[in-house]
Amino acid sequence: MNFDERVRRKNEFDGNLVYGTKQFNLLTGRHRHLGYRQKHDNQWINAKKGLIHNKFAEKRRCPLCGADYFDTLFLKEGFPHQKCRVCELVYVSPILNREVYMRWSRNERTYVSVLKTKVQTKMQTLKSIYILDILRLYLNKRSVVDVCDIGCGPGVLLSEAKKRKYNAFGIEPNKKCHKLLEKKGIDYTRDFFPLKEYGRKKFDCVFLLNVLEHMRNPVEMAKATKKNIENPRSYLHFSAQY
Ligand SMILES: [Zn+2]
Repeated sequence: MNFDERVRRKNEFDGNLVYGTKQFNLLTGRHRHLGYRQKHDNQWINAKKGLIHNKFAEKRRCPLCGADYFDTLFLKEGFPHQKCRVCELVYVSPILNREVYMRWSRNERTYVSVLKTKVQTKMQTLKSIYILDILRLYLNKRSVVDVCDIGCGPGVLLSEAKKRKYNAFGIEPNKKCHKLLEKKGIDYTRDFFPLKEYGRKKFDCVFLLNVLEHMRNPVEMAKATKKNIENPRSYLHFSAQY
């Protein structure tokens, strides 16, 4: 697939381009989700200081180089955005602590409602087909293909993988998504990654789509993922080219 073909196909599943942002938000119920978040995410914010409450907060070093030497650029919804003085990565610190984040991930409902809409599913399906087409370039006509999707949500990508006769496995903490995965007959675990029970399971490909940037420690996450990959060299190649 050449560059122009990739751009054309990626534009086909960009809802903001296809429908226009306003219409896309209405069709997927994002306006309701964003309204709900604005109202309820305030529970974490100390209104006087405009920052997240200490009891919910966890400071972190630069997730890329580990330095603790930064300039604060701006504040967004109570979260300070810092620029590392060593490697220049812009990152959030403090973040929600592990316990609050895990509870929120398990119980989140309004974004899952967005994911369930017809239009969002259509965009997600086109994206999944595109991603699996790219993956196929690296599979060397393997007869058995095992894929894992970390943060698989309602399982659109894994459903498409199953249509290609791949063995599909999902990792998803959200309770509402569990029901949807069960309906689709997708094998999954509700554990958080890295997995205790499936720690030694090997896959030909592990997807981290819209996931890595939400992790408290993405470098550790990538290292842990590598342990679950059959052939780490081809994985690194794939992620560099996507
Ligand atoms: Zn850094």
